[in-house]
Amino acid sequence: MVDLIPSSDTVMQMLKRTGAFREGHFVYPNGKHSPYYFQMPLAFRYYDTARVLAVGLSRKFRVDRDISSQLPKVSIISPSSGGIPVAFGVRDALSAEQIYWAEQEGDKRRFRQYINKGEVNPCIMVDDIIRSGHAIEETDALVKELGAPVIGCGAIVRFTAAPDRLGAVPIRSLVEFDAQMYDEGEDCSDCKKDVPVEHVRF
Ligand SMILES: [Zn+2]
Repeated sequence: MVDLIPSSDTVMQMLKRTGAFREGHFVYPNGKHSPYYFQMPLAFRYYDTARVLAVGLSRKFRVDRDISSQLPKVSIISPSSGGIPVAFGVRDALSAEQIYWAEQEGDKRRFRQYINKGEVNPCIMVDDIIRSGHAIEETDALVKELGAPVIGCGAIVRFTAAPDRLGAVPIRSLVEFDAQMYDEGEDCSDCKKDVPVEHVRF
């Protein structure tokens, strides 16, 4: 089963079952309203679910000849802590040689110290969810500073409002989701119905 790429519907069912996909009236940190919220680590707390999701995503990379021909001399890179379990799962499935993850320090995203230019293999960047694309774009800049090319990019879920390419590299995902982000009031149907809001963190 884990050798197949699960369908978007199957993935959404898994996310719903684990509590990672939630429906309500949410206000995001940027002030946007949405009837949907994803808390992806809730799906990754179950090892079997984590494995199916990561293996599914890994297969989207393996079918790319450009990527598969460079294995195992590839690094899997997570832009954030949420992407770390995805990175380990994808690494495992592809037998890639390296893993790196960036962290947010104050308002700056960075890798740990003492990673030197030239040490980083060609990169596949993976995250649990791509909402705006800022995290992968910032991490792309960090990777370029280290002199490594990005050969793949993907996430379990990508919001359709986010970019679908990172430069020349297509962004692959198991689910493409329209999060229906609205400014307060006017366009938000839950605001019109006076549904109480729930403030969420990223
Ligand atoms: Zn609203």
